[in-house]
Amino acid sequence: MRAGADLQTIDADVVVCGGGVAGTMAAVAAARHGASVVVVERYGFLGGNATAGAVAQFNSWQTGNGRRVVAGLAHEVVERLAGYGAAGAHETFVMSTGHKMDRVPYAPEVLKLVLDDLVTENGVKPLLHASLLDVATQGRQIASLRVLTKSGILTLQPKVLIDTSGDIDALKQAGARFLALDEGEALQPATMMFRFGPIDFTRFDALDPATVQALAQRGYAEGQLARAALHGSRDPFSTDAWFNISRLGIDATDAFALGAAEMEGRRQAWRAAGFLQQNVPGCEAGQLRAFATQVGVRETRRVEGDHVLTAAELLQPVQFPDAIAAGAYPIDIHPAAGGALDYQALGDDHAYQIPYRSLIPTAFDNALVAGRGLSATHQAMAAIRVMTISMAVGQAAGTAAAMAAGTQGKQEMPVQMRSVAVDALRATLARDGACLA
Ligand SMILES: Cc1cc2nc3c(=O)[nH]c(=O)nc-3n(C[C@H](O)[C@H](O)[C@H](O)COP(=O)(O)OP(=O)(O)OC[C@H]3O[C@@H](n4cnc5c(N)ncnc54)[C@H](O)[C@@H]3O)c2cc1C
Repeated sequence: MRAGADLQTIDADVVVCGGGVAGTMAAVAAARHGASVVVVERYGFLGGNATAGAVAQFNSWQTGNGRRVVAGLAHEVVERLAGYGAAGAHETFVMSTGHKMDRVPYAPEVLKLVLDDLVTENGVKPLLHASLLDVATQGRQIASLRVLTKSGILTLQPKVLIDTSGDIDALKQAGARFLALDEGEALQPATMMFRFGPIDFTRFDALDPATVQALAQRGYAEGQLARAALHGSRDPFSTDAWFNISRLGIDATDAFALGAAEMEGRRQAWRAAGFLQQNVPGCEAGQLRAFATQVGVRETRRVEGDHVLTAAELLQPVQFPDAIAAGAYPIDIHPAAGGALDYQALGDDHAYQIPYRSLIPTAFDNALVAGRGLSATHQAMAAIRVMTISMAVGQAAGTAAAMAAGTQGKQEMPVQMRSVAVDALRATLARDGACLA
């Protein structure tokens, strides 16, 4: 990494815009493969939805019959969390839809430390409290990004840009093309997670699914719950849980709508906490202890990539020659309004793949996308958006970016992400412990 003519310009092999779980894994993977990396993040900590949004459980590591489909860096994150005593055991539970799912619950505050450790140990340069200002392009190349920081405006000149901002702000600024919703589709709603406790888990966990469902339906019918669910994930450090029972139907790229949703989300969470305390066995002594730093955002922009991943391809599932990650999370659409979920379960040994081409935006040659903005239909995104898969795709994006910057970048030629040798990329990912099927 070189400071340019003035301190305000920084050259890097790879700039990662957005330090959520996808971005952090991309940054770490790129650095481990020899790239100089800057990760730009608007908050003072990494993790995105996983920390600021307090989602608090990594879902879907395996197929229904227990075949592992996500490992690699994502697994390392869990091991490091466990090292701090901040990850629960890998377990199965019953979702509000009545389906079985596996998860690792974790403490979002401690995940911040784990992500700090990962970037620091691997020599990634974190540029925190830095918000994207604009992007300059030269033809099909991303030339530079300007970010607003406490030191003023900094210019970053990457060989490769990985946009993991969730909302894909950098590529939006650069003029990339995005996928539209189809007839009858709406963006998935945002949710204000909240922490509630103490909970008597011996009684709360003993509730049978039918009782939980009846309570949730009543809370929804009475207007105290915004969705008919009592879904909580236990905080491993305490007798509290993070609850996911608010629903905010907004476009989170609309600044005023996002601000209004933060306020409405806190109101919904407050009402939901009252319902828990008054009606749910095991919750009588609990109270609302914290809101998430921000509303968790499930879906905003999806970039138009060389391949648009579809639900049919996940359901078949199609075997892609350029598969760089796998997943087994079902299609799980939270409607923007109403209390229920649209959930399509998968078969017991069903896993699907994500092709490298879905990470490459059609409009640019030296850019990739990972996480919840990659090139997939609304329905396919409803499956691949979970954090396990976001981390796996982030790892693949960072590895590919380092390979491209390392080989093509040395020739001082503009980097072409389409020229990455996919077989070599897949072999490297497999050596690094990733699952590709
Ligand atoms: C309420 C909710 C519940 C969920 N439940 C689960 C669950 O139980 N299990 C599961 O595995 N997944 C769950 N998910 C899905 C999962 O959390 C997300 O899809 C995933 O975290 C996306 O990761 P990401 O890194 O792509 O994006 P994000 O987490 O959105 O990260 C984007 C990052 O970019 C930063 N950023 C954005 N814009 C800018 C900018 N302009 N300048 C600088 N930085 C910027 C953000 O601050 C953030 O750190 C849930 C999501 C939500 C919202």
